[in-house]
Amino acid sequence: MSQRIAVIPGDGIGNEVIPESIRALEAAARRFDLQLDFRHFDFASCDYYLNHGRMLPEDWKEQLGGFDALLFGAVGMPEKVPDHISLWGSLLQFRRHFDQYINLRPCKLMPGIRSPLAGREPGDIDFYVVRENTEGEYSSVGGKMFEGTEREVVIQDTVMTRIGIDRVLKYAFELASRRPRRKLTSATKSNGISITMPYWDERVQEMSEHYPNIDVDKFHIDILTANFVLHPDWFDVVVASNLFGDILSDLGPACTGTIGVAPSANINPEHRFPSLFEPVHGSAPDIYGRNIANPIGQIWCGAMMLEHLGHEKAGQAMLDGIEAVLAAGSDQAPLTPDLGGQGTTSELGEAIADAIRDGD
Ligand code: ATP
Ligand code: MG
Repeated sequence: MSQRIAVIPGDGIGNEVIPESIRALEAAARRFDLQLDFRHFDFASCDYYLNHGRMLPEDWKEQLGGFDALLFGAVGMPEKVPDHISLWGSLLQFRRHFDQYINLRPCKLMPGIRSPLAGREPGDIDFYVVRENTEGEYSSVGGKMFEGTEREVVIQDTVMTRIGIDRVLKYAFELASRRPRRKLTSATKSNGISITMPYWDERVQEMSEHYPNIDVDKFHIDILTANFVLHPDWFDVVVASNLFGDILSDLGPACTGTIGVAPSANINPEHRFPSLFEPVHGSAPDIYGRNIANPIGQIWCGAMMLEHLGHEKAGQAMLDGIEAVLAAGSDQAPLTPDLGGQGTTSELGEAIADAIRDGD
């Protein structure tokens, strides 16, 4: 049975890296005999906004709701459309409507890439950040009092629900139990945030009783960020609330080198709605149009998407293809300038697709 993928390149280099992701996915599909049916959409882009006055058509929920997954490029054209319009009008709508309550980011140092952390080798950094993506600190509950006076007061509440916490914890524990180290770290701040964070800790404690094989620890967010930099090898699966996860999921990939290689996923684990796979990088208007964008982040998104769709071997083969080309180095492989090479986006994409095809 074929699986239907909605392809949304968005803006800027999204249009250059998406075709390379599809090329790699098609190579994996041929090798593993998968039926993937791609359909392209031009909305959720600033060009669409400039033509239509909105980022999405009226019936986007119907148009996208039946797909198995969304492969997204990047959105943003800051010189013509303010970021709050492009982002709020597209990605954040998808996240919310399709209940993508997990934000998942692998933080893995790949061969041939220099970590900004001195002396780190591939194998030293290989963990996931699991971020709660729908509630917590990013609620719109709150308000202002005595505005414009010296007595001004502003309040914004954190909203945590038992269902909301438990479902992200369950996802993180399940992920940890599929990994060899079986280790889970919880980000907290119960020494300073005295109501919500102790509750978060309680839920972690209770969930851990269902997973006796998982080694669980917790750190306050301040020392946790320090340990990401000092001891990245300590971590395997790190689970965090919306705000803490936001911070960690930028810090983690930053420890693994170039922004061009990092993927992320917004997941509805029950498959009730399509999940969305997008690179960590943005539309990079400064390099758009030159065919030098690194396509690896977008290709890795394809690998995560296959894994989510139940094709773990094919997803792993895509990752192996990426690692093989990176390990070959810029003498042997057409690596893009951000990786120290002189290759183009399409040459690097082609080399990875070849490596995926030849992998067995
Ligand atoms: P966002 O749109 O998510 O807010 P941003 O606008 O802050 O992100 P990016 O668009 O990711 O940032 O670009 C940041 C820098 O990284 C730019 O100099 C850009 O050229 C570079 N960059 C981003 N993606 C890539 C890539 N795939 N390959 C090479 N360089 C990249
Ligand atoms: Mg941007």
